[in-house]
Amino acid sequence: MIRLLAALLLALTPFAAHAADTIHYDVRATIGADGMLDADVRITLPEAAAGTGKAFLLGRRFVLVPGDFGGDVRVETVAAETPVAALNRITLSYPAGKRTLRFRYRGPLAPAETDGVAPIRPEGVELFIDHMWLPFGADIQTMFDVDARIDGLAKDLIVVAQGEVRRTSTGVIIHRPQLDVDLPLVAMRGLHKAAGPGVEYYATDLTTPVSQLYQRHALAASAYLAKWFDPLPDPIRMVAVSRARRLGYSRTGYTVVNDSGRPEGPLVEAGTARHVAHEFAHAWWRSASPLTDDFWLVESTAEYVAIRYIDATMGPDTARQLLDAKRAEAAKAGPVMGHGRPNRVQLYQKGPLLLFDLEQRIGRDRMDTLLLEVSRTTPNTTKQFLDLLTRIAGKDAASAFDAALHAG
Ligand SMILES: [Zn+2]
Repeated sequence: MIRLLAALLLALTPFAAHAADTIHYDVRATIGADGMLDADVRITLPEAAAGTGKAFLLGRRFVLVPGDFGGDVRVETVAAETPVAALNRITLSYPAGKRTLRFRYRGPLAPAETDGVAPIRPEGVELFIDHMWLPFGADIQTMFDVDARIDGLAKDLIVVAQGEVRRTSTGVIIHRPQLDVDLPLVAMRGLHKAAGPGVEYYATDLTTPVSQLYQRHALAASAYLAKWFDPLPDPIRMVAVSRARRLGYSRTGYTVVNDSGRPEGPLVEAGTARHVAHEFAHAWWRSASPLTDDFWLVESTAEYVAIRYIDATMGPDTARQLLDAKRAEAAKAGPVMGHGRPNRVQLYQKGPLLLFDLEQRIGRDRMDTLLLEVSRTTPNTTKQFLDLLTRIAGKDAASAFDAALHAG
């Protein structure tokens, strides 16, 4: 199940500017030498959406300090096993007008079952939403900005996280105005940094073949995308960790990849380059819901952009090879839309091929304009995308593309 959640969130969080009407997390946490987490989390709700209740998920291994919710808050806690195991679903009910909710809790930072991504390892700490160490909205789609002070990090750990990151002698202070559903961070010993315009890449060894590929394509993909779309307010941070499980994931302007030294198949460089460009494209738009038909709008477009990056940097023959590799599975994938969240083949193989068909029809210039508009307006629904397409390439192109999305 942890695997499922990671996959679900791979491309969930839209880039959005800080606004006063967003949910704000104020996190004070200490990681003890014994691996115990002591946390005090205040969640400030926007006035317009405060309501009278909200449900959260938190690892069941944490013990809550109940009195700290306040006398006017009713707390209902039930065990939950989804989307990951061993959770508590904590539903708070409170009087209208209450804006700040406070969670105080303590327990082992590491869940019993970590599915290959242990949060505490000899080389440091890797935390993300699958560890359920913060009270996240039970819908897993509650976006927040955050100020965090996390103590208990040894002096020699280098911290990679979103937003402004400042190390103290005992921990880290993070100010993240960007919205995200997660507060991911990597704090590892011996991380080296390679920076270029719009990107920071971190790895313990910048010289391994895979690390060199990541670096080269992180810089080049970031430059390619910044030229196509508008510049981002902050650099994209990317960190390569080494662990047995190869899981990579992406959040707002933040990507974690794995470098265990193993190659990635016959098209090693093209595959790695495609992966980096795909994850980076998500920094510009990723707002359609992962639970709906519209999710192709996040994944298929990012994959289309990634192949365009390959075309621009490694040549049309390599791009064609990657596209051709999608055709056999795509041919029997069934419709992209019309049945809820599209499956993996529909998202990553068939959807991108349909977008290349669209390019054939309307031309590359219009396609570039279309995706520039997507990056600026971040449509949540296929209808909004089709409206953009109609405006840029006409009604017939939009209806034909809509039909292709629904065709078997
Ligand atoms: Zn993706």
